[in-house]
Amino acid sequence: MVREETEFVNWEAVIGLEVHIELSTKSKMFCGCSTDYFTAKPNTHTCPVCLGLPGAMPKANKLAIKYTQLIGLALNCKTRTGSKFDRKNYFYPDLAKGFQISQYDLPFSENGHMFITTNGRTKKIGITRAHLEEDTGKLIHTKLNGTRLTLVDFNRSGVPLIEIVTEPDISSSLEAKTYARNLQQVVRYLKVSDADMEKGSMRIEPNVSLRKVTKGQESMVKELPPYKVELKNINSFKFAEKAIEYEIKRQRKILESGKMPKQETRGWNETKQETVSQRSKEEAHDYRYFPEPDLPPFAFEEKYFKSISEEIPELPDEKRKRFTKDYSLAENDARTLTEGVELAKFFEEAAGAYKKDPKIVANWITGEVLRRLNEENKTISDSPLLPASLAELLFLIDKGEITKANGKEILANMIKTGDDPRATVIKLKVTGISDIKLEEIVIQTISRNPKAIEDYKKGKEASLMFLIGQVQRITKGQAKPEKVREFVLRKLSEAD
Ligand code: ADP
Ligand code: ZN
Ligand code: MG
Repeated sequence: MVREETEFVNWEAVIGLEVHIELSTKSKMFCGCSTDYFTAKPNTHTCPVCLGLPGAMPKANKLAIKYTQLIGLALNCKTRTGSKFDRKNYFYPDLAKGFQISQYDLPFSENGHMFITTNGRTKKIGITRAHLEEDTGKLIHTKLNGTRLTLVDFNRSGVPLIEIVTEPDISSSLEAKTYARNLQQVVRYLKVSDADMEKGSMRIEPNVSLRKVTKGQESMVKELPPYKVELKNINSFKFAEKAIEYEIKRQRKILESGKMPKQETRGWNETKQETVSQRSKEEAHDYRYFPEPDLPPFAFEEKYFKSISEEIPELPDEKRKRFTKDYSLAENDARTLTEGVELAKFFEEAAGAYKKDPKIVANWITGEVLRRLNEENKTISDSPLLPASLAELLFLIDKGEITKANGKEILANMIKTGDDPRATVIKLKVTGISDIKLEEIVIQTISRNPKAIEDYKKGKEASLMFLIGQVQRITKGQAKPEKVREFVLRKLSEAD
C-alpha cells in the first residue's frame, strides 16, 4: 500500500518560557536596603524585613511596581487596575521568611504578546503574565577544615524580581533563544534592568514537551502534551538553546519507544552536555497561596497607565523598522544598530553629522567600530568616541586626505582615546595618502613645471627625480616613493 504523505507523523516541540528578571531599583522590594549587592560582602545589605525577622513589616516599592507595569505595557499586556500581593509558602534555606511575597491570581500585567522573527518568519508569542515578586537569598556551598558546609548570603533576599511567563507557543530552541533575546532587549530599552544572564539578573526556565503532528498540520494541533519538563538554573542563552535541543532528542527517544517522559525538573550539565533530573512530580509543591496580609491591595486608575505609557521609549521593533525606512538600511544592519539604545543613538547622531549617506556610516559602525569594541569586550557606551568625530573621519577619507586603510587605524585609536581624527592623524604620524589625492597632486605638479617635463622628454633623468621630489614635498613624505614614481611616470606618459 502506498503511504499518504499526510500520514507522516512528526514530533513538534512545545515550549513555554518562564523568565525571571531582577529590576534595577535602588532599594529592595519591601525594605530600604540597597540592591547593589553584586560585589558586596555577604549579608551587608540586610535588615529585619529582608532577613524575615518576626514582626518586621514590608512596604512595597512603588518604582518596582511601575517597572513591572511598564514591562507589561511594552509586551502588549493588559495592566490590571486591581491587583495584590500573595504569599507563596515553601521551605528552603535561602528563603528567610518561609514564604515568598509574590502574585497569584491578580498579577500586575497579563495577556500580552511579542512578535519574534526566525529564519525570515514572524510569529506571535503569547505572554501569559508578568508578575512581581521578591528574590531569595543565595546559598554558598563550601568547605571549611575539611567539613562541607552551606552558608547563606541574604544580600539578594528581597531584590525586586519580575517573572514573565509565555504561553506554550514556542516550537524550537531558536525561537526560544530569539524570544529571550528580544525580551532582554526590551527591558534594557526600558532601562528597568541590566538583564545580565552572567550576573544572574536574568534567568530563563524553559518548559519542554513534544506532541505528535501529521505533516502539513504543524501548529494546527493545539492540545498540550500531558507532561512537561522544566529546565532550571540555566545561565546563558547558549546553554538554554543546548538544553532545549538535548531535551527534544531525549523525549523523542522515550516517546518513540512507546513510553511517556516523566514530568520533572531537570538542570543543564555543561560538562556532560546533557540535562539531569533534579526533582520529579511526586515532590511537586503545594504553595498554599493566600493574600499577603501585611500589604494592602492596589487600585490603579486608567489615567495613571496612560501617563506611565508615555514614558515608554521607541522599542526595538519600531526603531528597527524606522531605520530600514528612514535610512534605507538593510534589515541586518538595522537589527545590529538597534541592538541597544546607545548604539542606535550613536548611529543617528553620526549619520546626522555626516549627512551624505547613512549607509556608509552604518557600514563603518557595524564593521570597524563594533569589531574593535568586541575585541576589547566593550560597548559603545564604554568608548569616548564621539559620533561627530566618526563623521569627521569619513569626511577626511572622502576628501582623500587619508586612505580608507589609514582611516581604520585612526578610528581604532579614536575609539580608545576619544580624540578627534585630525589630532589623531598628527599624533600617530599617519603616513599614507589616498590614490585620488596623490593623483591630484601629481597632475598639479606636472602642470606647474612645464620646463621639467620638456627636459625629461629630452632624456634628462634628473628632471624625473625633480618632479618626484616636488610631489613628495607637497605630500610631506606621506606617499610611498615607489608609488609617487609610478604615478609621475604614468602622468608623464599620458602627457605625451
Ligand atoms: P506550572 O503550574 O507548573 O508553573 P504553568 O501552567 O504555570 O505550569 O506553566 C508554566 C510554563 O510552562 C508556561 O510558560 C507554559 O506556557 C508552559 N507549559 C505549560 N504546559 C506545557 C507543556 N505541555 N509543554 C511545554 N510547556 C508547557
Ligand atoms: Zn532589607
Ligand atoms: Mg506557573
